[in-house]
Amino acid sequence: MGIFKKISSFLKDNDKETLKDKLNDSSDLIHSTEYKSKLKVISESENINTDSLEAKNGLDKGLEKTKNTFFSKLGKVLIGKSKVDDDVLDDLEEVLITSDVGVKTTIKIIERIEKRVSRDKFLGSKELNKILKEEIVGILLDQHSNDGSTFEALLPHNPYVIMVVGVNGVGKTTTIGKLANKYKLIGKKVMLGASDTFRAGAIDQLQVWADRVGVKLVKQSMGSDPASVAFDTLKSAKAQKIDVVIIDTAGRLHNKVNLMNELSKIKRVMDKVIPESPHEVLLVLDGSTGQNAFEQAKQFSSATDVSSLAITKLDGTAKGGVVLGISHQLKIPVRYIGVGEKMEDLQIFDPKSFVDSLFR
Ligand code: GDP
Ligand code: GDP
Ligand code: MG
Repeated sequence: MGIFKKISSFLKDNDKETLKDKLNDSSDLIHSTEYKSKLKVISESENINTDSLEAKNGLDKGLEKTKNTFFSKLGKVLIGKSKVDDDVLDDLEEVLITSDVGVKTTIKIIERIEKRVSRDKFLGSKELNKILKEEIVGILLDQHSNDGSTFEALLPHNPYVIMVVGVNGVGKTTTIGKLANKYKLIGKKVMLGASDTFRAGAIDQLQVWADRVGVKLVKQSMGSDPASVAFDTLKSAKAQKIDVVIIDTAGRLHNKVNLMNELSKIKRVMDKVIPESPHEVLLVLDGSTGQNAFEQAKQFSSATDVSSLAITKLDGTAKGGVVLGISHQLKIPVRYIGVGEKMEDLQIFDPKSFVDSLFR
């Protein structure tokens, strides 16, 4: 069956669940441009927003472990409960803390629930569920939000220069590849700079991503000056009228002074070529390390001005609650979340959809 027929056949029955499953099963197929354009035509006529459907599906799947753990714990607390008493609040607190939400954020959530429902008030567990969800979203939206943000809207300058930092292994290079793909899909000209010249294989790995996505890469040999690579990258980005430049860096946190010096040197050199750049310093954190990610965020932001966060590896961990704590407590917005190793497994973090997914 041709692609067109395949799409029509599962759209004809107008069953969104089936569409969701199919979108999920055939990731290679759905990332072909041919498929996308055809799907667009059909979905427009059927009035289905396939982008958000795809994102929602990816989020649910990516957060599966966190969802299951969180839900089963929450279920045990709420089962048979018809009023909010101290026991319920204590148990809720434990669920949140053991889901890596973090102590401060947990206390805040419990406080808000206490304020909202007077103690010993009779409530069904369904209502309590709803209140909990609303209060979690509430505190996240109080802090900041990417609510409704699109990849397009996250590029306020042209060229827009992003420097990506973080310790080894957190997923910097992978996140860069995924980001490059997202921007390319919306028609942006993307260029990568291989300023992780320290780690063996780092340049080749970025090259693999650049080839896979089909974007340009500027590199030198291993061991060369990262600032020099950044300089070359920005020079050629400027000459080639590139829209988005993403610079990979080496994450050596064992010596904060060196790291600080290296990052400020790269930034200084970038600013020479494109004033005010980098426009964004994106810190990548591995969500599966739970509370450790918090620590890294604190240490890195004391070494350089971090302006946004990406939290990776939320698939395959039950510690996804850490996103809620980080997003609530750090003054730095969580911009992206990584929910898998594949090219499309990156999403803009939206507190509301995130919490919706946890409770779904
Ligand atoms: P870097 O050292 O910070 O550049 O990290 P890499 O990008 O090389 O990633 C380290 C490992 O983490 C690789 O095996 C990636 O495939 C994996 N990884 C990165 N992001 C994710 C994610 O969102 N989910 C999963 N499951 N793996 C990821
Ligand atoms: P330095 O290495 O301590 O002298 O640090 P700089 O801030 O001067 O520059 C770091 C690197 O960026 C240099 O080694 C060059 O590779 C590159 N760079 C900086 N400015 C220039 C420039 O004006 N022209 C060229 N070609 N490269 C530059
Ligand atoms: Mg890397």
